[in-house]
Amino acid sequence: MVVLKLMFVLTLAIWVVPARSQQIPLRYYTQLDGLSNLSVTAMASDADGYMWVGTENGLFRCNGAEFRRYAQEQGLPDPFIAALYVDEQRRLWVGNNEGLFLKQGERFVPILHNGKKLPITPGQKFYSSPDGSLYFISQQHLYALNMASGQPQLQVILPNQQNLAQATPDTLYGLYREKNGDFWLGCGSSICQYSGNQIHVWDAAQGVPGDQWLSFHRDNSGQLWARGEQHIVVLQASEKHFTDRTPPGDILHKKGLVTWISADAEGRILSNADQSLIRWNKDHWENFDRKNGLKIAGGLTALLYDKDGGMWLGSRGLGLIKWLGSGNWESWTMAQGMPDDVALSMVRDKDGVLHIGTRSGPAQLRPGQRQFSSMNDGLEKLDHQWSGMVVDNSGVVWGSTYSGQLMRFDAKAQVYQQMASLPQIFRMLPDRQGNIWLATIEGLFVFDANASKINVVRPAGLDGLQIPKGVNFRDLCLSPNGNIWFMARDHLLRFDGKNWATFEVRYNGQSPYMSAISCTAENDLWLGTRHAGLLRASASASISNGVLQLRQQESPVLKNKIIFSLLEDSRGWLWAGTDAGIAVWNKKQWRLFNQSNGFVWNETNGHSFYEDNDAAMWVATSNGISHILKPENLFKEHQLNTLIESIHRDGNSYASDKPLALAWSPQPLELVLASLNFRNRSALEFHYRLSGLEENWSSSTTPKVRYTALEPGSYRFEYFVSNADAQQTSAVKSLDLIIQPPWWRTIWFYLLLATALLMLVFTLHRYRLRKLTELQARTEAIVRERTRELEISREELKVRALRDGLTSAWNRSAMMEMLDMEIGKAQRQQTPLLLALLDLDHFKRINDTYGHPAGDAVLVEVVRRLNATVRQSDAVGRYGGEEFLIIIPGLDVAHGKGLIERLLKSVREKEISISEHQSIAVTSSFGVIAFDPQNPMTAAELISHADQALYRSKQQGRNRVEYVE
Ligand code: GH3
Ligand code: MG
Ligand code: MG
Repeated sequence: MVVLKLMFVLTLAIWVVPARSQQIPLRYYTQLDGLSNLSVTAMASDADGYMWVGTENGLFRCNGAEFRRYAQEQGLPDPFIAALYVDEQRRLWVGNNEGLFLKQGERFVPILHNGKKLPITPGQKFYSSPDGSLYFISQQHLYALNMASGQPQLQVILPNQQNLAQATPDTLYGLYREKNGDFWLGCGSSICQYSGNQIHVWDAAQGVPGDQWLSFHRDNSGQLWARGEQHIVVLQASEKHFTDRTPPGDILHKKGLVTWISADAEGRILSNADQSLIRWNKDHWENFDRKNGLKIAGGLTALLYDKDGGMWLGSRGLGLIKWLGSGNWESWTMAQGMPDDVALSMVRDKDGVLHIGTRSGPAQLRPGQRQFSSMNDGLEKLDHQWSGMVVDNSGVVWGSTYSGQLMRFDAKAQVYQQMASLPQIFRMLPDRQGNIWLATIEGLFVFDANASKINVVRPAGLDGLQIPKGVNFRDLCLSPNGNIWFMARDHLLRFDGKNWATFEVRYNGQSPYMSAISCTAENDLWLGTRHAGLLRASASASISNGVLQLRQQESPVLKNKIIFSLLEDSRGWLWAGTDAGIAVWNKKQWRLFNQSNGFVWNETNGHSFYEDNDAAMWVATSNGISHILKPENLFKEHQLNTLIESIHRDGNSYASDKPLALAWSPQPLELVLASLNFRNRSALEFHYRLSGLEENWSSSTTPKVRYTALEPGSYRFEYFVSNADAQQTSAVKSLDLIIQPPWWRTIWFYLLLATALLMLVFTLHRYRLRKLTELQARTEAIVRERTRELEISREELKVRALRDGLTSAWNRSAMMEMLDMEIGKAQRQQTPLLLALLDLDHFKRINDTYGHPAGDAVLVEVVRRLNATVRQSDAVGRYGGEEFLIIIPGLDVAHGKGLIERLLKSVREKEISISEHQSIAVTSSFGVIAFDPQNPMTAAELISHADQALYRSKQQGRNRVEYVE
């Protein structure tokens, strides 16, 4: 029984070993990266791929490049973050002493229960179900929270459930929710299982030691792991008893450490110990600590796998730690027993021992060992920079040094024996015949490795070849067809087992300066060159025509890099070691790997690659060896992602998840892009263009784009991200953008403007028209006026031309015309005509006595009286001064005597008033002549006779009439 028990204990014994690997490739993210607090408390990854990091002073969102802090301003009154969770509805929850908060937009809103906050203690876990319920523990209560109605609906599940079979536990803290809805809880010092409304308590009787059970995890094989402060226990799927899996050695000792248990990408259980990270490996715990380069400070508080599968650890005091290349890249350095960090060569022997050559001699890693052993015993006197390491066809390990020593490993004695001393040896190569070829600084050597006495010689048959003396051969390879190729700087030599051939290598007429070769499965050659990059020599073609056909192999990732070494592996993939990482070509695609992927060091060495029996790749560098466990994983696709992180203008932020319509502004529009990718960040490049503004794509490593004062119009912002090292591009995404015209550029405004303009034109037109009309009217009036005036003046003129200006009697010329006319008429009609000439008597006296105006008035009145006395057909005219002519047609003296007498009387019968108070008597004298048609006379003759008669009247006393006989 005792024996049995002992055996039982033995079989269940657990041990902790220092992790098999290696130096962990790590990167610490600190304040230099924008993480302003280094005590990480919690981590979560959201649906977009943002990584959220809770710290003791603020919540940080990491987009792979930058950290953005969320604290009081965003609604978190206490910036100490205790717990983070992204639920099935992709919502981000934050818990701390101030309560539970839900991220809504860029703010966190508190969730209250009956108006009270729900404090969350550090390390608390949250779970959610597809129906949107959130499960969490606050102040010893297990809650279910549902936001489906828009308002938080809170339900207390435990401990105040009424129908529990057993008494409710007094304290609740740890939480785990199974997919079937069962809960596992830390309760008191036990583990509680809540299933089907029943509480089942697991305690010491079921293998659960008293502890604070904070964290649970069900692994891929169905075991439930529970992590207490000082214990780890596991429950097999069908068991009724927990098994203790506590790592021995008191490494779970510290009180108050927030503990967690989880699994890595391969399903291996991980947990945090006091000073290390522990990983369950089948039957034992592996321990990763400062010996592996993993510093922990106050504890590893959180674990997170990002969406690219990258592993992140949160440290209390050292910030955020990324385990680069976790799961696929391991590093080996002096910390793992290498005699020197500069590794130069590697080979695995038939016993599975890995032999390496370093700058400080050889070492070996025996199967199952985790440390290299130096094999420098007895070699102290040599300058043993161990350049080459090969296994011959009988399994013997040979080494060569830059000091020219040829060494053979005595496996029995486990020591190296010096076999020959040669010029500086660069490389060794065993052929199929059991020979080993040596490329040295002074040409080639060869020896039969199986000979009882080692005899290193110059190869035969080389003498006749055109190779410059002392040329050094740096690299060599064995083709599948048995040909051996030797590489000098400008020459290739080929040995087919019998004959030698030499090729001068030229590309574009120049020496490309070869630095590395590798034989291909097709019996071709890869050539690494300084001046022409990677070339492929079609070696089979060369046999027929004696010329090496060279073809350049495009490799975007090899640009501007020196190729130090080349190896085509058993898959046919080509590996190129460079001065800045290793480039791998899987016949379809190139990828570059460097320290950001977990590579130990970017500078590779002369013969960097060794393909192991399990197809894993070992890569020698100046700072250790990298071991790539599964090279096929190097080409795993990781979706490149890009998004618009923010859009700003003029101090305002805009959402990017729907088309954006903005009013026009002269302020610049700034778009910030992000790529939520956490690997190869240094090779990321953002590409974008604004269709509608530009046709060409712009590229930048800084993801900020600015457009100043965009013209109103429709645009489409298109963007994607590329990774030059991974030779990947993301899908092109786009955001439609409309810049609305300013009010003074809207169609309405234009319409308004046009209307206003039209109205103005119309008004102006109307105004002009009115003015024109007015003007026209006025002009017409003026014209009319002028015309009238003209007409009047013409009448006047006419009148003036015919009438006397003072008296309006016919003037002299009118009287003469009329007289001529009347004489003609009288003659034609044989009718009589009287002509009277009269002169006012003593008129001079009137002027002299009463003034000239009085004389004028008399003249006017006399004419009026004469006109009033004559007939309508008669004419009174002024002959001059105060002399008047009267034409009396149709009358002779006999018939006209009465009229003449009346005329004489008309002048004298009444005094003529010359003012209001004065009148004067005026008389006149007449000379009258009758026209005789039988005896016609001219007008002048008639007037002359009349004047004579008038003279007689004056002579005979005036105031009388004298007729011409
Ligand atoms: P008699 O009886 O001999 O005709 O005497 P008289 O004074 O009339 O003499 P005379 O014929 O020589 O004088 C005419 C005067 O009439 C001279 C002149 O001053 C005056 N006279 C001529 N024309 C006008 C006129 O238009 N107005 C006035 N007020 N006087 C005029
Ligand atoms: Mg007179
Ligand atoms: Mg007179």
